Amino acid sequence: MAKVHGLQVDIVTPQEIKERYPLINVDDILGGTFIPSDGQANPSNAALSLAKGARQRGAQIFEDTLVTGFLTEGRRITGVKTAQGHIQADQVVLAPGMWGRDLAAGLNSIGIQAAGGLGRVVAARGSTGAP
Ligand SMILES: Cc1cc2nc3c(=O)[nH]c(=O)nc-3n(C[C@H](O)[C@H](O)[C@H](O)COP(=O)(O)OP(=O)(O)OC[C@H]3O[C@@H](n4cnc5c(N)ncnc54)[C@H](O)[C@@H]3O)c2cc1C
Repeated sequence: MAKVHGLQVDIVTPQEIKERYPLINVDDILGGTFIPSDGQANPSNAALSLAKGARQRGAQIFEDTLVTGFLTEGRRITGVKTAQGHIQADQVVLAPGMWGRDLAAGLNSIGIQAAGGLGRVVAARGSTGAP
């Protein structure tokens, strides 16, 4: 995927992985990938920074508020139904992560197909028997 987007992706040997991360056990690792331009962020700080920036620009954040469905007019979504009441909106962004399938299923009735699901991981076993 990274290569498709034009990023440099290096294939690294177990020895090269060990040099970068000495605590890792590479006994059963055949190799890996290393993307030199990858960055790292503290997820908590990143989320709080984004929330602060959004609030500074007028956003309201409702925590612990379950979205239970959508308000619609014809084929248009005009808001969301929550456990605390309805919220009207000009635009609705559906970003419930892997919990999206059930929530998005409610949109099928107005002709909007949306699906969500947990990412798939494929594990293959090579001829050496290592995973
Ligand atoms: C173990 C693990 C490690 C990971 N490590 C990395 C990493 O190192 N680097 C990296 O880049 N990515 C990592 N990822 C992937 C990254 O976490 C996800 O890609 C990212 O969180 C997706 O963001 P999102 O906003 O789309 O969804 P999410 O972060 O899943 O957010 C969806 C939100 O919607 C809320 N929600 C769902 N349904 C409703 C509802 N009905 N009403 C109200 N709220 C609802 C959920 O509570 C949740 O807060 C990791 C993932 C996992 C599971």
